[in-house]
Amino acid sequence: MRADLHSHTTASDGTFTPRQVVERAKAKGLAALAITDHDTVAGLAEAQAAGAEHGIEIVPGIEISSVYNGHDVHVLGYYMNTVDEDFLVRLEELRDVRHLRNKMMLAKLAELSIHITLDEVAARKKDAAGNVGRPHIAEVLMEKGIVSSMEEAFSRYLGSTGAAYVNPPRITPEEAIDLIHAAGGVAVLAHPGLYKNPELVRTLIAYGLDGIEVYHPDNNTEDEVLYSALADEAGISKTAGSDFHGMRNDIVFHADLGNRSTPLTTVQELRQRAQKYQIAL
Ligand SMILES: [Zn+2]
Ligand SMILES: [Zn+2]
Repeated sequence: MRADLHSHTTASDGTFTPRQVVERAKAKGLAALAITDHDTVAGLAEAQAAGAEHGIEIVPGIEISSVYNGHDVHVLGYYMNTVDEDFLVRLEELRDVRHLRNKMMLAKLAELSIHITLDEVAARKKDAAGNVGRPHIAEVLMEKGIVSSMEEAFSRYLGSTGAAYVNPPRITPEEAIDLIHAAGGVAVLAHPGLYKNPELVRTLIAYGLDGIEVYHPDNNTEDEVLYSALADEAGISKTAGSDFHGMRNDIVFHADLGNRSTPLTTVQELRQRAQKYQIAL
């Protein structure tokens, strides 16, 4: 009875529809799955319907992009009121920034004599309502033979040290936490191993973080030990997730569902922690 608390669908940059992700999670033997698309909850309704059919609990989630000192910091949210009007308007604003960023990255690629249009990138979306992200740009780079793999696309162009990387102003991690709390959800710091900044994690715990994603494919053993200790010390939740993004060219992008998982009790714990934010609504 395990839960995977981090997955993406075609509502953002995953390649599986919400239904396909739920069906794969079921096949992997998971009892619960959180759908955590980037800056959107558009995949949830379909996932929940599929979850009800297949007897797998779907945890409503999101992964919000924020920036701290020029670096991407992702904050996961669980159990928000996903029909809350203010929340949905804020998410739309965040997606506008994603759109701006895509345009800025394509402009940088053009400076490097790599000409890609926004339409070519948007055509890679698997779902018309989904949003566009760097993996879609990477696919076009592969299609045009400019790079031969996703890894190369990120290391040469799109990753944080890549030649076309840009990071327009975004909300801070603290603002992301506030946004999730205001919608009645709990805020969990995603993949802290990527930030190499334990001080930031301490700052966000002090600010009001409800949990840390201690187990993630990008956290190494040292990270697990460190962040597990920090979470215990603060009395906040420890979560786990695969960050499944579907398959690209027959290769599982990030890690497969269930690659990292928590006992079901973690799901109950998050739901309980969310209650204090919901009372205020
Ligand atoms: Zn992330
Ligand atoms: Zn993710």
